[in-house]
Amino acid sequence: MRAQCILCDEINKLDPFSLLAKQLRKKRKLTYICDNCNDRISKKTYERRQNDNFKLYREEVEDDLLN
Ligand SMILES: [Zn+2]
Repeated sequence: MRAQCILCDEINKLDPFSLLAKQLRKKRKLTYICDNCNDRISKKTYERRQNDNFKLYREEVEDDLLN
């Protein structure tokens, strides 16, 4: 089956028996993101994790749990 990446509109062929293809067919996953974009997003998410805002949020959550 073919799937179009929501970020770069690239159309890739997927193995119709792969887990991802099954999830797309059953609408468990509504979006398909190609490998290139996936890598880019993972990097950005990792960088954001080093960010102060992200740490602040985590500390707040931990405080709530303790009180
Ligand atoms: Zn893409």
